[in-house]
Amino acid sequence: MEKKTEPFWKTKKLDELSFEEWEALCDGCGLCCLHRLQGEEEDAPVLTTRVVCRCYDLNKGGCSDYANRFRLVPECTQLTLDRAAEFDWLPQTCAYRLRHHGLSLPEWHPLISGTRESVRPYGVYALNPVLETEEIDLEEYLLDEEMPS
Ligand code: SF4
Ligand code: SF4
Repeated sequence: MEKKTEPFWKTKKLDELSFEEWEALCDGCGLCCLHRLQGEEEDAPVLTTRVVCRCYDLNKGGCSDYANRFRLVPECTQLTLDRAAEFDWLPQTCAYRLRHHGLSLPEWHPLISGTRESVRPYGVYALNPVLETEEIDLEEYLLDEEMPS
């Protein structure tokens, strides 16, 4: 009888993923592309706004120029294994944060559901997002609660 192998997102640790698996782990929710504000005090909470990065494509969903994102938006954060200690700023549903803590992906993750559409109720679209412009005042768009979880 053929042995059934478990998918990589259930069995592999982050440091065991191939480049392709690492990229596939992102659910495309876009929550990490929202602007955040933090007061000057060291332990000030990070407040999330519903203003999404100027490079985000609100029509298609996702970064409009993923390959060049760090050149276009220098403050864009690259998620890498050696920055795992910083993953806790990510939304609680972020697949990298979940797997970093050894937790399972939600049923709506595209790797499980088979469609990126299943993410919409859990990502930026659920927050009535606004695209960043030069004039925008982020404080006017603070979310009441921390992050969808
Ligand atoms: S929050 Fe995590 S899963 Fe969602 S888009 Fe960002 S990196 Fe991908
Ligand atoms: S550059 Fe792209 S990946 Fe980076 S925050 Fe902006 S939209 Fe998101």
